[in-house]
Amino acid sequence: MIDGETKFVALLGYPVEHSRSPLIHNTAFDHDGLNVRYVAFSVRPQGLIKAVGGLAALGFLGANVTIPHKQEVRSLVHQLSETASAVGAVNTLVFRPDQSIFGDNTDVEGFLAPLAPRLDAIGSRPVTVLGSGGAARAVVYAIASRLPHVPIRLVARTRSRAEALLLDLKSTAGAHRLDAQVLAFEQAASSIRESGLIVNCTPVGMAPQVNASPWERSEDFGSGQVVYDLIYNPRRTRLLEIAARQGADTVDGLEMLIAQAAASYWQWTGREMRIDAVRAVLAS
Ligand code: NAP
Repeated sequence: MIDGETKFVALLGYPVEHSRSPLIHNTAFDHDGLNVRYVAFSVRPQGLIKAVGGLAALGFLGANVTIPHKQEVRSLVHQLSETASAVGAVNTLVFRPDQSIFGDNTDVEGFLAPLAPRLDAIGSRPVTVLGSGGAARAVVYAIASRLPHVPIRLVARTRSRAEALLLDLKSTAGAHRLDAQVLAFEQAASSIRESGLIVNCTPVGMAPQVNASPWERSEDFGSGQVVYDLIYNPRRTRLLEIAARQGADTVDGLEMLIAQAAASYWQWTGREMRIDAVRAVLAS
């Protein structure tokens, strides 16, 4: 029930109709008995400044920011977290009582959360990242921060975009050493075979193209490897099916989606998100 005391959190993106974030956060607010609602707003790029100003004026607790606003919104915040600054993208805003706006990037924490129990299995073997867009940026930064001694291979369709990503991260990531190289897809087979962790940051395999995979050669996967697909629709992508059949440990994108949401939720409420309740609702 919305009443005069209800507080709000927004999602700003374009488009937002497909988003699972309202379901995730409203479930969590309900479970905590909080009088807070999460609402998605479709905001065109030319409307971003007014939208953020409007949320601040209306007393919103915070917001998530998604494609295509994650970079542009940086100029509207008063303080950036170290992670958001290094990745060059913001996905979480906090509107503080003193009217200032804090910007963070919880995709990094969200990506790392499902890997925590798997770090020993990955060891010091290389990590192969497929794709070099916005998500790959957070993933490469996360790996370089948490596994600073592993070589990273960035497999890209557009070499110049991948090289620019690495250059940017090297200049902004400060102390984090970045041992990374760019490979074309045609050169990536031995990298995938040697890797302890393979991450798909391309949209290949996402609904409705569920029969596609960014890597088809099943013989390059095996037991002892972790294969992580950022796609969450479907959860079981063709890539994860191929890898699991070869004995690899697999992680789907819903785990990251929930973990990044939990990190944002904590910033707005100071509470741990009830992840079990959220998982149950998403599975139903
Ligand atoms: P993006 O910025 O558009 O980047 C996509 C990357 O994939 C680009 O490097 C692109 O190459 C590459 N690519 C696209 N089609 C390809 C193909 N057919 N073959 C090889 N490479 C291809 O997208 P993004 O924001 O990084 O998102 C990527 C995926 O991650 C999406 O499926 C998204 O839903 C998912 N994601 C999940 C979460 C989560 O919480 N689970 C969070 C963020 C993103 P070019 O550079 O050549 O265009």
